[in-house]
Amino acid sequence: MLNQLTISELATELAKSRASSHAATQACLDQIQRVDGQIGAFITYDAVGALAQADAADQALAGGATHAQRPLLGVPVAIKDVIAVKGQPLNCGSKILDKFISPYDATVIEKLKAAGAVVFGRLNMDEFAMGSSTENSAFHVTRNPWDTSRIPGGSSGGSAAAVAADECIAALGSDTGGSIRQPAALCGCVGLKPSYGRVSRYGLVAFASSLDQIGCLTKEVRDAAIMLEVLSGVDPCDSTSVPRAVPRYAGSLTGDIKGLKLGLPKEYRIGGLDPEVKEAIDAAVAQFQTLGAEVVEVSLPHTDYAIATYYIIATAEASANLARFDGIRYGLRVEGADPIELYARTRGAGFGAEVKRRILLGTYVLSSGYYDAYYLRAQKVRTLIRNDFLKAFEKVDAIIAPTSPTAAFKIGEKANDPLQMYLMDIFTISANLAGICGISIPCGFTKTPKLPIGLQLLGEPFGEETILRIAHAYEQSTSWHKQKPPLTR
Ligand code: GLN
Repeated sequence: MLNQLTISELATELAKSRASSHAATQACLDQIQRVDGQIGAFITYDAVGALAQADAADQALAGGATHAQRPLLGVPVAIKDVIAVKGQPLNCGSKILDKFISPYDATVIEKLKAAGAVVFGRLNMDEFAMGSSTENSAFHVTRNPWDTSRIPGGSSGGSAAAVAADECIAALGSDTGGSIRQPAALCGCVGLKPSYGRVSRYGLVAFASSLDQIGCLTKEVRDAAIMLEVLSGVDPCDSTSVPRAVPRYAGSLTGDIKGLKLGLPKEYRIGGLDPEVKEAIDAAVAQFQTLGAEVVEVSLPHTDYAIATYYIIATAEASANLARFDGIRYGLRVEGADPIELYARTRGAGFGAEVKRRILLGTYVLSSGYYDAYYLRAQKVRTLIRNDFLKAFEKVDAIIAPTSPTAAFKIGEKANDPLQMYLMDIFTISANLAGICGISIPCGFTKTPKLPIGLQLLGEPFGEETILRIAHAYEQSTSWHKQKPPLTR
């Protein structure tokens, strides 16, 4: 079944003319038909447009184009609903954008298209990427392919569920505090959050601009390396993208991690960690040692402040970024007697509860009299958190941690308790505050029910080669990533 292949497997099949992009794309569309009624990963998808791109890829292949020139030629890649694709709906999981159609391609989409990918579908997400379960989508819930009574994680829950259920070969997501890594962990796929500035954010609808990064969700580590190489690079349209050469990431996957030093943060040994998650991480540590890596303890002393710091900075930036949804420029408009009433009514009707909560909180922490007490202090603590990591990376090549304190929880279980939900991000949020890179890879399963567990590797800023190399060596010495959810078999 072509939809089950990885990027590198499909590329080989296409290059050897043993399969066509048309057939691979059709296989993904068939799988969506078969399982997405139960999973709900997609908000919409354009089957005709996808097949037309696939046919163009098949023609290019027939004309002699190679994957050395265009690494994703003919590969179906689905997109989180927060990234602009020209001519496609852009809703950010919200009602406020109504029938908005994107007039342009995000830089990452231009890059995917230049690399030959079949770019299709709008993947479900928490509204404006605010959440950890995809339950905050204004459209529908997305269900975890391993157990459809459970959440897929979030906010890129649609992306993770679609990859895990073989509804696409790979997907794009965005990560502001864990939104790629956490759903990847909960659905049993690979999720990579690049360092801040590695990938252009042009065309990514902003949630918290100093934390947001686009990344990928894939079936194995090699695919993440292939995707990252395509997505990375400086962009004149994003002044925060960094002019650094893009390495041949796949070239760093040597399988050899002998002599590398991995750090286990002592502050991550917290009470709320599920025993089965702990057991899986301990086993992974032993596996790294077997592979010849040295594992030492490190300290990240400001870890306790990460969640509070994040929820001040992220909400402050969100309150400013979301001011543009005013009923005048885009999307939904609810008429009022004057512009202020129109603005209030539109935002009242268009935003969901979590988005409103964050706008209120963000406006509060930025307001005069509170700015110094909250926002300014949070920025200072953010620097301390970043310095903790930079200090740790003087001693170790990467940091190991769980991705999420528990496996996937039941739909509705935490929906009425935002603080419980915020705690799901305890291991992922610091990486965004520090601007470093991180990857989540499968490292085991809980017993009953059988649910995926994710291991996180964190690397220094622009240290993606190292974490990919370590993740790949571990992955290739285990078989967790090869297991498929029951629904898709
Ligand atoms: N779960 C976190 C939040 O709700 C992170 C979201 C994200 O990374 N986009 O803000």
